Amino acid sequence: MDFVESDEQALLRESVAKIAASFGHGYYAERARAGGRATELWDALAEPGYLGVSIPEQFGGGGQGISELAIVCEELAAQGCPLLLLVVSPAIAGTVIARFGHAEQQARWLPGIAAGTTKFAFAITEPDAGSNSHRLSTTATRDGDIYKLNGTKYFISGVDEADHILVVTRTGTDETTGRGKLSLFVVPTDAHGLTADVIPVEINAPEKQYTLFFDDVEVAATDLVGNEGDGLFQVFFGLNPERITGASIANGLGRYALEKAAEYAKTRNVWGQPIGAHQGIAHPLAIAKIQLEQARLLTQKAAWLYDAGLDAGEAANMAKYAAGEAANFAVDQAIQTHGGNGMTTEFGLADVWGMVRLQRIAPVSREMVLNFVAQHTLGLPKSY
Ligand SMILES: Cc1cc2nc3c(=O)[nH]c(=O)nc-3n(C[C@H](O)[C@H](O)[C@H](O)COP(=O)(O)OP(=O)(O)OC[C@H]3O[C@@H](n4cnc5c(N)ncnc54)[C@H](O)[C@@H]3O)c2cc1C
Repeated sequence: MDFVESDEQALLRESVAKIAASFGHGYYAERARAGGRATELWDALAEPGYLGVSIPEQFGGGGQGISELAIVCEELAAQGCPLLLLVVSPAIAGTVIARFGHAEQQARWLPGIAAGTTKFAFAITEPDAGSNSHRLSTTATRDGDIYKLNGTKYFISGVDEADHILVVTRTGTDETTGRGKLSLFVVPTDAHGLTADVIPVEINAPEKQYTLFFDDVEVAATDLVGNEGDGLFQVFFGLNPERITGASIANGLGRYALEKAAEYAKTRNVWGQPIGAHQGIAHPLAIAKIQLEQARLLTQKAAWLYDAGLDAGEAANMAKYAAGEAANFAVDQAIQTHGGNGMTTEFGLADVWGMVRLQRIAPVSREMVLNFVAQHTLGLPKSY
């Protein structure tokens, strides 16, 4: 067992951190506040190929794994620049298309995802289904060479920036269980019949959230990804990378906050010595560090299992939970350490709170992770 990253991984970490630091949290927060996009940062990461590290080489990607994409996500967040689009575009859409797309689809979409010139959003969540994907009601109905999509999705990130959306639809219902038979489609964001409304949220991020309305949106049958009815299995294949990269964002945000807190605790002096000398300040920061390292180890294990082609479901869920909790604790303690300054714009902590709090809700909520572990790991009965 080797806990030391390869030279290539260490270099990737260092290079991404350097690019992100050259923009910094100030740039990110200002873009977000102005309702703008982090395009310059995205392009700076795209140029050396960092957005496509996990896409196969034959499509212009780096040919590496989710471990490397997780490094990119973590280092960005550790500089206060978490990018949700990395989770939906290369991690989910890139993975699902590389694995289940047919050759023509892969050739059409993967080079753009690898280069960062094509952005994908991902739409599974619905107002009436939420955490229960079996209950999805956005339908895709075949009509000759096309499918017609009807329904509503909500909380879909980055639709205004994306060229395409990987949409999870219902193409049938299992007679015995009543559960949806799901299928995945690639839908252009400018498709006729597709409209998007912004959902105002208290998260200071450049990516906006949308409700999507599909009203007889026509999609070519050739844009069905994989097999009709296999969507649930296929999408779960993409959800482990989603959980791992999501956990990496949380881990990075925790590091971002902890670094600021340690620095402040060393320099702020109100009783003749730095506040970090008080154990009421020092111990919670030490606990935050331990929790973050636990979460990072779980995340690296999940990524390693995934890249090795092994079952990463349990580890990815656990990593997502641990990272969400660790990041929330770290940011809360960092704010506390800063006293009043913790609430200022200048110190850049309170404005990441929404993004950090999100890590306990999405892409999978802490309760659904606990359900997974209770049922699948511990064998406890299902209550719902
Ligand atoms: C900023 C943001 C970005 C997002 N981006 C995307 C995106 O790009 N694409 C996308 O498809 N979705 C996206 N989502 C949606 C996100 O994945 C969902 O919000 C999340 O999965 C929870 O679903 P829900 O909001 O419907 O909550 P619900 O399913 O309504 O759950 C509400 C609460 O009940 C709990 N709960 C539900 N069922 C159970 C149960 N069986 N046992 C115990 N507790 C339970 C949940 O844990 C939660 O605390 C985003 C959400 C946000 C806020």
